[in-house]
Amino acid sequence: MLIVPQADALTQPYWDGVAQRELRIQHCQVCGHCWHPPLYRCPQCHSEAVQWRATSGRGTLYSHCTVHHAAHVAVADKVPYLVALVTLQEGPRVVSNLLHCPAHRLRIGMPLRLAFQQIADGVWLPQFEPEPA
Ligand SMILES: [Zn+2]
Repeated sequence: MLIVPQADALTQPYWDGVAQRELRIQHCQVCGHCWHPPLYRCPQCHSEAVQWRATSGRGTLYSHCTVHHAAHVAVADKVPYLVALVTLQEGPRVVSNLLHCPAHRLRIGMPLRLAFQQIADGVWLPQFEPEPA
């Protein structure tokens, strides 16, 4: 069973970015705050003047865990897998899978970069992987 993300009015710009191999987050045009996941208003000043911008695709590892028990049948054949909390260079933290790195090599604060993983025909997900040394 495969679950494919579905865009809606709020998240369409995010998925348009993914189609162009970008990780886009929202910025407030009033106070400059940026955040993820998407919201209709700025969580800082409540302005609706929200703009999407591509991130640098760079970040650092804030925290991580290894998932051993599938919480859903859709990921039953994926365990164990790594889940990370990544601090983007732009500031917000995002939850992501970590690719191309065994758990024993992970270090808090290590540099990470955006990596796209194809999960189905024409369906890509933004993930992170270690920055090459
Ligand atoms: Zn704001």
